[in-house]
Amino acid sequence: MLSRLFFELLDGKLETTFLGEIEKMRESCSFSLLYLGISKDADLNKLKRGFYHTATDSSYRDAEWLYISIPTLLCPSLAPQNKQIISVVVYLAKGKYKDITNWKIFKENLIADTINRIEKYLPDIKKHIEVIEAATPKTLERYTLNTDGAAYGWEVSVDQIGDNRLPQQTPIGNLYLTGHWTRPGPGICAVVSSGWGVANLIMEKEKWR
Ligand SMILES: Cc1cc2nc3c(=O)[nH]c(=O)nc-3n(C[C@H](O)[C@H](O)[C@H](O)COP(=O)(O)OP(=O)(O)OC[C@H]3O[C@@H](n4cnc5c(N)ncnc54)[C@H](O)[C@@H]3O)c2cc1C
Repeated sequence: MLSRLFFELLDGKLETTFLGEIEKMRESCSFSLLYLGISKDADLNKLKRGFYHTATDSSYRDAEWLYISIPTLLCPSLAPQNKQIISVVVYLAKGKYKDITNWKIFKENLIADTINRIEKYLPDIKKHIEVIEAATPKTLERYTLNTDGAAYGWEVSVDQIGDNRLPQQTPIGNLYLTGHWTRPGPGICAVVSSGWGVANLIMEKEKWR
C-alpha cells in the first residue's frame, strides 16, 4: 500500500535514502477466512474457541494455525433467528501464497480442508451447513488495497514496531501517514491511536490548539 504511494504516485518526488528505508521493510502475513452459516439443531458446544495448530513440518516461526470461534454463542443476533455462525481465521505460512495463480481453486481447497478439519471435532457438521463464505489474501487486498492482503501493514517485529515504524510526518509537507503502516503499529487500538496522534500533529502545526 505504502509502496504504491511512495514508489508509484510520488515517483521521483522523494529522496532515495527515504525510499531505501521503505524498501528494507517487510510486509506482514495475510490470512484466509471462512464463515459458515449453521442450522440451529447443530450442537456447537464441542467446538472450543481458540487456536488449532495445524503445522506438521514447519519451524515454530511459521507454525500454521486456525482460529475458530462461534460468535453467535456470545451474540445470537449476529445471525438470523435460529441460525449460528462458525468463524475461522486461517493462517498459512507466507511463502505458500507466492505461486498461487488460480485463487478460485485455492479458495475451494481452503473451504474443503477447513471444513474437514472442523469435522474432526463435530462429525456431522457438513449436514448442518447452510451458508459458506470465504476470503483469501486476494480478497483482503481487493477490499483494503493492503499489499498482498497484509493483515497488519508491516510485519510485526521489534525492528518494525513503535518508533521503528515509519513516522507519521512524511518528507512531503502536508502528507501524513496514519494506520497500521505507520506508528505506533497494527491492530484496532493502535490505529485509533495513530489517527489521534496524526490529528494532534496537524493541529499543533496549524496552531489550532
Ligand atoms: C483477518 C484479520 C483479523 C484481524 N484481527 C484483529 C484483531 O482481532 N484485533 C486487532 O486489533 N487487529 C486485528 N487485525 C488487524 C487490524 O484489522 C488492522 O491492523 C487494522 O484494521 C488496520 O487499520 P487501518 O485503518 O490502518 O487500515 P485498513 O483497516 O486496511 O483500512 C484501510 C481503508 O482504506 C481504504 N482505502 C485504501 N485505499 C484507498 C483509496 N485509494 N481511496 C479510498 N479508500 C482507500 C480501504 O478500502 C480500507 O477501508 C486483523 C486483520 C485481519 C486482516
